[in-house]
Amino acid sequence: MDEAVAKLKKIVDESDNIVFFGGAGVSTESNIPDFRSVDGLYNQKYKYPPERIISHSFYMDRTDEFYEFYKDRMLFPDAEPNAAHYKLAQWEKEGKLRGVITQNIDGLHQKAGSEKVFELHGSVLRNYCTHCGKFFDLDYIIKSDGIPKCDECGNIIKPDVVLYEEGLDNEVIGAAVSLISKADVLIIGGTSLVVYPAAGLIDYYRGNKLVLVNKDETARDSRADLIVHGKIGEIFSQI
Ligand code: NAD
Repeated sequence: MDEAVAKLKKIVDESDNIVFFGGAGVSTESNIPDFRSVDGLYNQKYKYPPERIISHSFYMDRTDEFYEFYKDRMLFPDAEPNAAHYKLAQWEKEGKLRGVITQNIDGLHQKAGSEKVFELHGSVLRNYCTHCGKFFDLDYIIKSDGIPKCDECGNIIKPDVVLYEEGLDNEVIGAAVSLISKADVLIIGGTSLVVYPAAGLIDYYRGNKLVLVNKDETARDSRADLIVHGKIGEIFSQI
């Protein structure tokens, strides 16, 4: 076992107050592309960059193009959790992990069995009519033709996903800050730590066991007590 992985294993073995904070890199081994690495969405060819299309103003002004991209590139109904999701769920059941804070919108942590999941950017699995508030599942969105409309009042349905230019849910942020500020171990995995305000959560950690698990360097490597480079699913499956 790699020396850094062995150090991480020791840290995990000795703690019952671990908090995990993750991003798109947690789901790439489930074949959901992230935004920034070589195979990620930013390196594909679109008329506009993803962060413009999945912004609030783009959604309002060009709802049809928003949904074209969203349905084509943001929805992965057949994706299954990978070893990283399953390991986190196992640690929660063992009483070691206090919660998963995620920037992902794919619902894979819950699918793997995690219960204490704080979704900073919402979830593609929840969708609501912008007029009457009726709930719709992902299947309804996928099967809808063009812009999804409410089957009761006919108005546009919006995913419960935090678009660029939109604010984060205060309750979710509060819960995440509380968990992180009380954590003994903070493991941050599969995030480039460049999307704010989510990336700023790292500043609430007060301990001395901040572990970064990432394929590449991140914007905050200098803050870490331990850096483990590699694929998070492969790394977690060794622990
Ligand atoms: P990001 O795309 O900016 O960064 C992903 C990071 O993960 C990169 O540093 C990359 O090197 C690393 N990475 C990729 N695969 C990895 C692996 N197998 N193991 C370890 N590291 C790996 O993602 P972000 O920081 O989460 O921020 C971008 C935004 O993208 C977030 O707001 C999120 O909502 C959204 N997003 C979500 C999903 C999803 O729900 N699965 C997918 C794409 C984008």
